[in-house]
Amino acid sequence: MLKIAYHPIYKHPLPEGHRFPMAKYDLLPKQLLHEGTCEPDDFFTPDRPNDEDILRVHDHDYYTRLTQLLLNAREVRRIGFPLSQELVDREVIIAQGTITGCDYALEHGIAMNIAGGTHHAYTDKGEAFCLLNDQAIGARYLQNKEKAKKILVVDLDVHQGNGTAEIFANDPSVFTFSMHGRNNYPFKKEQSDLDIALEDKTGDEGYLERLYEILPQLIKEQCPDFIFYLCGVDVVASDKLGKLGLTLEGCRKRDEFVLETCYKQGIPVQCSMGGGYSPDIKTIIEAHANTFRLARNIYF
Ligand SMILES: [Zn+2]
Repeated sequence: MLKIAYHPIYKHPLPEGHRFPMAKYDLLPKQLLHEGTCEPDDFFTPDRPNDEDILRVHDHDYYTRLTQLLLNAREVRRIGFPLSQELVDREVIIAQGTITGCDYALEHGIAMNIAGGTHHAYTDKGEAFCLLNDQAIGARYLQNKEKAKKILVVDLDVHQGNGTAEIFANDPSVFTFSMHGRNNYPFKKEQSDLDIALEDKTGDEGYLERLYEILPQLIKEQCPDFIFYLCGVDVVASDKLGKLGLTLEGCRKRDEFVLETCYKQGIPVQCSMGGGYSPDIKTIIEAHANTFRLARNIYF
C-alpha cells in the first residue's frame, strides 16, 4: 500500500501576497484522488510526535522557545512565516508524518509525506520556511529504535540541505548527499558528505547524467539500509526561486531513477515533498503528482 501522510493543518493560512504556495498542500491530495493515483485509504493523518523524537535532533532550548512561541524577532524573520501556535503544530505534525512514514516504508518499501523536506532547519535554529527537520527526525527515530543503522539522505531539492548537513556533520551513520543549484540559496552553504553544486540553467541531460552516475555509486559505497528522498520540484526551469533548467519530464525522470533504484536494491525509502515555486500552481502540482504516480507504478 502506498501510505501518504496528510493533515488538513498542512495548508496553513498566510498573510495576503506571501510568496509561499501553501495551496499546494490542499490541491495535491485532491489531484491524486481525482485522477485515481491514490485512494482515500492511502492517506493517514499524523498525530503529534513525542517531544523525545524531536529532541534527538533539535536543541532543547530552541525547541522549547519554538513551542512556547518565544523565538526573537530575528529568529522569526529567518524562518519567513509569522510564528503562531498553529504553525508550530503544523510543523510537529509534519514531522510525525515522516516518522510514521518511516515505519510504513519499512513495511511497504516506500512512504510519502505530502509536506516536509524541511531541510533548512538546523539543530538550534530554523530558516527559509523550515522550523524542524522532518527527515533528520525520522533518521534518528529509526536508529533509536534500531530499525536502521546506516542511512542515506538523497536531497535533490534545488536548495542545499544545509540544516541536514549541519545536523549530521560528524556522524558517519548518516550520509548526506545534496545536489543543488550553486547560485541558489543558501548563499553560505554547509558541507554535506557529498555536495554537487550545479551551474545555472543546468538542463535535463546534464542533471540526469550526474545523478545516474552518482546515486548507484553512493549506494554501493555506503550500503544504506534506509533512504530519505527529498524530492523538491524547484529544479524545474519555471521555478521562481530555483536557477536550474529542468523540464517537467526531466524532473519526472529524476524521480523515476531514484525510486527505481531504491526499489531494485530493496532499500526502503521515505519521500518528503520539499520546495516548488513555479508561478503557475498547476506546474507545481503536476511535478509533485508525478512523484506519486511513479511510486504507485513502480511499487504497487
Ligand atoms: Zn527548495
